[in-house]
Amino acid sequence: MFATLSDRLTSTFKNLRTKGRLSEADIDATVREIRRALLDADVAVPVVRAFTGAVRERALSVEVSGALNPAQQVVKIVNDELVAILGGENRPLRLAKNPPSVIMLAGLQGAGKTTLAGKLALHLREQGHTPLLVAADLQRPNAVTQLQIVGERAGVPVFAPHPGNQGHGEVDPGFGDPVGVAREGLAAAKARQHDVLIVDTAGRLGVDAELMAQAADIRDAVQPDEILFVIDAMIGQDAVATAQAFADGVDFTGVVLSKLDGDARGGAALSVASVTGRPIMYASTGEKLTDFEVFHPDRMASRILDMGDVLTLIEQAEKAFDADQAEAMAGKIASGEDFTLEDFLQQMQAMKNMGSMKKMLGMLPGMGQMREALDNFDEREVDRIEAIIRSMTPAERRTPKIINGSRRARIAAGSGTSPSDVNGLLERFAGAQKMMRQMARSGGMPMPGMGNL
Ligand code: GDP
Repeated sequence: MFATLSDRLTSTFKNLRTKGRLSEADIDATVREIRRALLDADVAVPVVRAFTGAVRERALSVEVSGALNPAQQVVKIVNDELVAILGGENRPLRLAKNPPSVIMLAGLQGAGKTTLAGKLALHLREQGHTPLLVAADLQRPNAVTQLQIVGERAGVPVFAPHPGNQGHGEVDPGFGDPVGVAREGLAAAKARQHDVLIVDTAGRLGVDAELMAQAADIRDAVQPDEILFVIDAMIGQDAVATAQAFADGVDFTGVVLSKLDGDARGGAALSVASVTGRPIMYASTGEKLTDFEVFHPDRMASRILDMGDVLTLIEQAEKAFDADQAEAMAGKIASGEDFTLEDFLQQMQAMKNMGSMKKMLGMLPGMGQMREALDNFDEREVDRIEAIIRSMTPAERRTPKIINGSRRARIAAGSGTSPSDVNGLLERFAGAQKMMRQMARSGGMPMPGMGNL
């Protein structure tokens, strides 16, 4: 996600590290680098212009600060401006006072709407809602079946037209007709007391008038509380025009960025919020139902600047841990105290539960430089770490310092590894412990990536 942009920006900042003061020429050179990095990442030209203009102006007027050196000040400015173009703050889903709330999904075919419908349904169900999915995408032959599969996985019922009559051209009032299906879905949600209705609609490969008219008809029929425009972050330069067309055609209320996992450029993502003035509310980061995040502009900005995204990390950890464990862990991260090998092991096990190890590690501060290593990351490594820690006595886990040569040999033998594996683990643990302390010292703000700027 944003790998190239992230690498380009962080290397730009590295060039500033040695500067005691920044001259206007330094700032201009930096701004030029940033402009190129953004353009190469497919960020829309007007957005780039506004962004670099704001960064330049603020960088020129920064006060000499005792707390931050010039490089850090520039990072902070770029961070603030990134947060701003990503929409500032997360806007939560607006639900109706009188249920059912209606959420309609719109976007091009293949954008990830149907997948997103399942993700959102699962997310809402986890929050105690009782969603109903409606299959109003009758354009694609398999769309209804696909939504049914997704609904089943999410544990959420699907309201669909009768099988065998899925809109292959013929229109059967109330069923073959997507507007009718949406309307019936709403009636069903009311009758069955679902508090949220999620309406999946058809897309086309490109924007066309008929598609927009159908989406607008569905909108008028179900009066959504939210219309979420789902956009594939990989479509590059077309993103802005597509978003604009949907803004004009259906007047969406929020954006969902999909396929952020597969994307090296990602500029679409950075342009859409500021071009349309609608907030990015969610991000979709993979094909699995759990590859879904509430979008937080500040967290995304710090991920792009490789300052890590510890908050998202903690949130995902909370899901995998039980609540008590998670609270203890969050407390430990906040205080920087007593982060022990047992905690480390617990974290590792939780990470294993969390599915994508790589994604988790990618959120840790300073991991940008290790991206290549991450791509070769082997989840079996966790099993090895687990075996090593399990071969330690409780005292050794609490106080790794006492692990001398003979203890090391015993642990290695017990875990089927070598003494140097044991050492390697202890070094990594020491690194993690140090990171926790740094985080605690910077008031929970994950800035260790800037520590050596
Ligand atoms: P729709 O036509 O808008 O309903 O799009 P689909 O939900 O059918 O998604 C199109 C394809 O993209 C499917 O193969 C999905 O599995 C895939 N897809 C959807 N969201 C994501 C995502 O966030 N990441 C990745 N890698 N693939 C996705």
